Amino acid sequence: MSTPAIWDAIIIGGGAAGLFCAGLAGQRGKKILVLDHAEVLGEKIRISGGGRCNFTNSDSSSQQFLSLNPHFMKSALARYPASAFIDLVRAYGIGFHEKQAGQLFCNDSAKQIIDLLFQECTKGQVQIRHPVSVSTIESKSSHWEVMTTQGNHKTHAVILATGGLPVPAIGASSFALDLARQFNIDVVTPRAALVPLSFTAKAFSQLDSLAGLSLPVTIRSGIKGQQYGACLFHEDLLLTHKGISGPAVLQASSYWEEGEPIEIDWLSNGAGVHGAKLFDEIFSANANRLKTTDNILASVMPQRLAKMFTEQAGLLSKKWTEVGKIEQQALKASLTEWRVKPAGTLGWNKAEVMRGGVSTDALNGQTMMSRNHAGLYFIGECVDVTGHLGGHNFQWAWSSAYVCAHSL
Ligand SMILES: Cc1cc2nc3c(=O)[nH]c(=O)nc-3n(C[C@H](O)[C@H](O)[C@H](O)COP(=O)(O)OP(=O)(O)OC[C@H]3O[C@@H](n4cnc5c(N)ncnc54)[C@H](O)[C@@H]3O)c2cc1C
Repeated sequence: MSTPAIWDAIIIGGGAAGLFCAGLAGQRGKKILVLDHAEVLGEKIRISGGGRCNFTNSDSSSQQFLSLNPHFMKSALARYPASAFIDLVRAYGIGFHEKQAGQLFCNDSAKQIIDLLFQECTKGQVQIRHPVSVSTIESKSSHWEVMTTQGNHKTHAVILATGGLPVPAIGASSFALDLARQFNIDVVTPRAALVPLSFTAKAFSQLDSLAGLSLPVTIRSGIKGQQYGACLFHEDLLLTHKGISGPAVLQASSYWEEGEPIEIDWLSNGAGVHGAKLFDEIFSANANRLKTTDNILASVMPQRLAKMFTEQAGLLSKKWTEVGKIEQQALKASLTEWRVKPAGTLGWNKAEVMRGGVSTDALNGQTMMSRNHAGLYFIGECVDVTGHLGGHNFQWAWSSAYVCAHSL
């Protein structure tokens, strides 16, 4: 395709949202140019889902997203739901499987999703140029001008799809957020999310020796009624030398506010069972009357952890019948309402996504266009919409790209 005098849209960022939007718009007859500063495109897709790309979640709904406006994503998700992307994956003959409730992964490789996106772009005659650096974007009276290291381009629309801040080593940048600020568009303070949590040496001294241990828990994080609210997750927790990780912790990290504690129920079995109930059951069971406290606990949790909790409570090797009421209650609370203040997160290098971003107040949720700047769009992770773990972040990339492509 020859280079037009003026493009219908220039998409900055050729990742999940940018390439998907480009392919769809191109197939609708629009002249689309994608610009990306990376040597290799689709790197986040390639490393996603342990190399198998958890490309969507069949249960994706607004409930699985954080945003200061919890309704913002509803329209896009309704117009392009997970089922639509699943149909597309099927149409390309890509084999996939469900790992956990609703989480869909490629059977072979994440590269199949990257290939799908490139083929969609080819069908839409999209031009893709990279690596190229965009220096300036200016609004003119009848069009936009995009200045790059490889020349300047005129366009009717500019679509920012430069993603979030995680993993700078593979091309993440604050480009979309900086541009939003330049146009007086509010940006909700970005923060690492779906990320392991770290602790001070003091708070973590006992758990450090248990690194490598994984168990199902219930974890509570966030502040009800404030900012992104609070949430409760029943999933696996992994103890590491640096702190805590695993799906339960990654989920909780998205809701965690600095300086606030998180609460862990170590006895909940990760299935929503209230640990306090299980505690009462095992310690009142006749069969356990003559057993030591740590032995009773070890019947429902890893032995090393049972030992640590009873040691900490001064009850190691003590028969439960010899333990006083106050000590019993203290042990129960420490096991089922364990409150600890994380020192921080492991930061952008270890985060899967960014919480915060371009304020949804500034965007039209039906189109993703700026309310105050006609022709300026933001899609994907750069927007203040963050999914839970399990394929929701890619679904947001596809859904936001779809409504944008259909509004051009
Ligand atoms: C390790 C890891 C695993 C993940 N696994 C999953 C998963 O299994 N399921 C899931 O749903 N989500 C997963 N995610 C999150 C998911 O990858 C992102 O939410 C998704 O890629 C966001 O899509 P996007 O198009 O907005 O941004 P990206 O896919 O990150 O694309 C942004 C593009 O913009 C380009 N860019 C950035 N700055 C500039 C600039 N200044 N100029 C030009 N181009 C620029 C980048 O090079 C990149 O190509 C994972 C993330 C990580 C880090």
